[in-house]
Amino acid sequence: MKAIQLEKPGHFRPIDIPEPAAPGPGEALVRIHRIGICGTDYGGYLGKMPFFSYPRIPGHELGVEVLAVGEGVANVAPGDRCSVEPYLNCQHCSSCRRGLTNCCEAHKTLGVMCDGGMVERYLLPARKLHISRQLSYDQLALVETLAIGCHAIDRGHLQPGEHVLIIGAGPIGLSAVEFAKVAGAKTIVLDINEARLAFCKTTMGVDHTITARGDGSELKALEEITGGQLADVVIDATGSHKSMSAALAYCAYGGRLVYVGITQQELTFLHAPIMHRRELSILASRNALSRDFARIIQLIEDGRIDTRPWITHHARFDDMIAAFPTWLKPESGVIKAVVEV
Ligand SMILES: [Zn+2]
Ligand SMILES: [Zn+2]
Repeated sequence: MKAIQLEKPGHFRPIDIPEPAAPGPGEALVRIHRIGICGTDYGGYLGKMPFFSYPRIPGHELGVEVLAVGEGVANVAPGDRCSVEPYLNCQHCSSCRRGLTNCCEAHKTLGVMCDGGMVERYLLPARKLHISRQLSYDQLALVETLAIGCHAIDRGHLQPGEHVLIIGAGPIGLSAVEFAKVAGAKTIVLDINEARLAFCKTTMGVDHTITARGDGSELKALEEITGGQLADVVIDATGSHKSMSAALAYCAYGGRLVYVGITQQELTFLHAPIMHRRELSILASRNALSRDFARIIQLIEDGRIDTRPWITHHARFDDMIAAFPTWLKPESGVIKAVVEV
């Protein structure tokens, strides 16, 4: 069957691989219908993603149809449409035993640490499938992106009426916006890109936007918006060590700073005494939990999350390799590109 492999940074190639085996106990064989392309994939292509190894078949944002199930599988049946939770966990380590399946000590994300879903058919543990009778395959492929923001907002314990500052209006920041709105918070987005900020206001219903100029005007703007209180929760979705190092200054007294973006560079806490004076909490957010997937599917089904603004580009499987580099260009206006298999 057909697959697409990222042989090395900057180089995809179509390959032919054997069909997966018949599903064993607890497993499901699925047909891949849609593959969402995300920052991890762009990072892998550019050779900038720390967890990525080569050669690799990417693909972790998947909308799939169940073809067959193995012994003991009760949560899905052939014909079901599902989203895939692409975080393989061991079920035995101390993280897994405590329910922290998102940061299993032997964690593997499909398409990053092991071969993923840029294939026609795929075999995986059935417990990683989340069913929906209403969502389209496009929507199902979007659930994982949304799960990242969902988990980050949960990590910040965002409460109704609180101010949340989301730094970085890429797909991860936008996914945090969705759940900040669901939480009933007042949303503020900070980014350097005016077009993205305009999109946040007009399409995503963000309450306030701030242009990042790097001249201190950001803090003043935040003070104005929040009546001097600053942000109860700050979500940094930039992956920029500069932004991450400076983000403490935006936190209100008792505030929570959540790092959902990741950097390989050293973080230096500018304004470090603020951390004590305001008794701040600094949190990391990694992947998402199983329950997040079920919750997101429900929120989309109920119309509380509108997926229409999200998917901006499509490509057929055979056209993916040619289209991929164009999605890297900011002027393409990509929010989410989806591959149709
Ligand atoms: Zn992703
Ligand atoms: Zn584990």
